[in-house]
This record gives sequence, C-alpha cells and structure tokens, in this order.
Amino acid sequence: MFDFLNPIKGFGVTFRQMLKKVDTVYYPEEKRPTAPRFHGRHQLNRWPDGLEKCIGCELCAWACPADAIFVEGADNTDDERYSPGERYGRVYQINYLRCILCGLCVEACPTRALTMTNEYELADDSRESLIWTKEQLVVPLLPGMEAPPHPMRLGETEVDYYQLGASGVAGADHGDDGDQDGAGQ
Ligand code: SF4
Ligand code: SF4
Repeated sequence: MFDFLNPIKGFGVTFRQMLKKVDTVYYPEEKRPTAPRFHGRHQLNRWPDGLEKCIGCELCAWACPADAIFVEGADNTDDERYSPGERYGRVYQINYLRCILCGLCVEACPTRALTMTNEYELADDSRESLIWTKEQLVVPLLPGMEAPPHPMRLGETEVDYYQLGASGVAGADHGDDGDQDGAGQ
C-alpha cells in the first residue's frame, strides 16, 4: 500500500540536518591538525651521524600496490659511504600521482628508512613536481650530523653502530630510530 507519509518523512531528514551544528572547515585559512598516525607524505630518515637509513633494497617498491616508488641502489665503498650497509639508495623517487598513501611501503622497509609525515598538502599542477626525488624526501641534517658520504661514526663494528652510541656521537639514551619529526610510524 502506498505510504503517503513517506515524502514527509524524507523532509524530516532535511529539517534535522538544518538544525545540526555546521562542521565546515575554512580550509586553507583554517587547518586542523591531523591524527598523530596520519598517512601524509613520506620521508627518508637518517642515522644520528647523518648516514642514510635507506639501503636501496627496493622492498618498498615491490610492496607498493600502485607502482609509485622507483629505487636504484648502488654500492657503498670505503671512500664513499652513504649508508652503514653494503648498499644505499642512489636514486629514490615517489610518484604522488600514483601514491594512495596506504603505508604498505613503510611496513615493508627493513631499516625504518621510510616513514610518513603528517603533511598532506601535496596538490600541484604539473606532473614533474609530483614526482618527489630523494633530495626532497630525505630529512635535513640535524645538529651533530654530517652530510654523507663519510665513514660510519657510531662505532667500530656494525653491532656498535646499530646499538647507536659506542662512539659517543649518539648518547646511549638517544634511544630513538632517527625519525626526526616524530611523525614516523
Ligand atoms: S603509501 Fe602505498 S601507494 Fe604510496 S608509495 Fe607507499 S605503498 Fe605505494
Ligand atoms: S626505503 Fe627501505 S625498503 Fe625502500 S629501498 Fe630504502 S631500505 Fe629498502
């Protein structure tokens, strides 16, 4: 049987919405902070002596469902060392035209070289500017860090190095993983 009250019920939804508090955000004038573990743009982290955490293994690229990451590794040498491992990421690119910010690359990274920040303002009007390079993604040097290439400064052995501090470059209480803005996840 035709329920002639249905159209009126429909308007009821409309009227209820009209009386609710409006939740409009006046972006970009007003920016609300994101959740702490928000998936924003990526960053490539460093060890406390400035060496890069990326070892060029490409696991992030293989894990990416959108094929948004391009990595080209190269060998470190005693004279030219960029990371404490055998290899480093010579070329690193993330294509933000493809990236869906899912975070699977971060999960795949064995050294926590790759984390995500809370930055979400990634829109641009050219394809080139949305392909971020290693130079754009790697975190800036903090005080006490030295720009690579340079030898491993956190210890004589790899065990010392990865325990961060035998050399005194990083205090034993440093205890973090080198993420520099606290936004890594
Ligand atoms: S966040 Fe997801 S889509 Fe973006 S680069 Fe990482 S794995 Fe690929
Ligand atoms: S970011 Fe991590 S997973 Fe990707 S190449 Fe570097 S070390 Fe490997």
